[in-house]
Amino acid sequence: MQPIQVGLLGLGTVGRGTWNVLRRNQEEIRRRAGRGIEIAMVGVRDVARARAFLGEGVRVTDRLQDVVTNPGLDIVVELMGGHEPARSLVMEAIHRDKHVVTANKALLATDGNEIFDAARTMGVMVAFEGAVAGGIPIIKALREGLTGNRIEWIAGIINGTSNFILTRMREQGLPFEAALAQAQALGYAEADPAFDVDGVDAAHKLAILAAIGFGVPIRFEAAHVEGIRHLSAIDIRYAEQLGYRVKLLAITRLVAKGLEMRVHPTLVPSQRLIANVEGAMNAVLVKGDAVGTTMYYGPGAGAEPTASAVVADLVDVTRMHTADPDDRVPHLAFQADSLVARPWLAIGDTVSSYYFRMRVADQPGVLADVARILADHRISIDALFQREPGEGERQADIILLTHEALERDVNDALGKIEHLPTVLAPVIRLRKESLA
Ligand code: NAP
Repeated sequence: MQPIQVGLLGLGTVGRGTWNVLRRNQEEIRRRAGRGIEIAMVGVRDVARARAFLGEGVRVTDRLQDVVTNPGLDIVVELMGGHEPARSLVMEAIHRDKHVVTANKALLATDGNEIFDAARTMGVMVAFEGAVAGGIPIIKALREGLTGNRIEWIAGIINGTSNFILTRMREQGLPFEAALAQAQALGYAEADPAFDVDGVDAAHKLAILAAIGFGVPIRFEAAHVEGIRHLSAIDIRYAEQLGYRVKLLAITRLVAKGLEMRVHPTLVPSQRLIANVEGAMNAVLVKGDAVGTTMYYGPGAGAEPTASAVVADLVDVTRMHTADPDDRVPHLAFQADSLVARPWLAIGDTVSSYYFRMRVADQPGVLADVARILADHRISIDALFQREPGEGERQADIILLTHEALERDVNDALGKIEHLPTVLAPVIRLRKESLA
């Protein structure tokens, strides 16, 4: 059988990785897919640079429209990133009856529902394993391997850049800015790191995971997003003294009132496997009612790890190319006509345990005032320690861990605590998850 014909949009980190993996493993891939997979056309901005990398035998163009309209291609792989022109090109490819493979989480988080609707109407596939946690096959695990379960929650470290920064802050006691500079020098962070360190990239991926886990449409806007920019090395140290590591966790959970979806720095007990996921690695925990807690670990980014996922999608699409569209695995794991609407909970309605650090005047009665306000707001203390003031200092740090409390109660209590004349600075508050 003739190789299936692929058009590639974008030849950057992942595009080049995909080209290399497909070439290097072509014989194994052909045996697995049942036929060869051939990149026949590549769309880029700089044709000369692409031609120097690809050599002869592939059509290269800077008119990306020509790729998605080429009737000789069966699959379009979008590895450009961003919204436009990626969105229009993907939609055009679908309307031209082509399957799509993409690693573009930003696009799917905001436009995924519309893209999947169009694909269903046209009877083509859209595969996106590379969009979440890079090389870790988490989409496949959730959509196929765990279909017997009722998913209860998903929690992951799904942004390698911020995990690298947190690791350096903890191991070397560095402030955020210095750890970020290291990440940039080593190529882990972009010149503009905002999407990574402010939690947006993790929220894009979480929105996709939540939809697949719970059978709901993708709703990126429902995510509560906090990054690591304002995290102090001192809180990481105090947390460690209490037996916790601070991780940027992306969490989605089904509770009686609806669905939670949140990304924020979180204290995780240091003996948990996920607390020991360090550097740029990713990990996702999934709790299913039948299987219990499972964990998926691996490189969440990089040229060939992401290419591993992109090529797996290409093999899947190639295998399914001739199957009846109605018999295929649905994009969001659940059949499109059975997606349900569930309420997304505002962050004030979520329940967590907390870490508080309070800078207080070193005088009697402070702790009693704080404890009374917490009790008045139904917040009970799990652990407490006080860092005694140094020689000549008149201020002390009180570090408190709480049992589970409603976030709205916590906001009210902290508002009152910060008004106490003995509390000298805004209270540092981090959430804590046992992930048991
Ligand atoms: P990248 O290195 O910046 O490569 C993007 C490529 O697309 C470049 O070749 C770029 O061309 C081309 N491109 C972008 N806009 C274009 C336009 N308007 N017209 C023509 N060409 C255009 O990006 P990447 O890291 O490979 O990421 C690609 C996708 O994979 C993104 O959606 C990203 O989120 C996702 N992803 C990346 C990783 C990773 O580890 N890098 C991991 C998981 C998912 P020029 O070079 O000429 O600008």
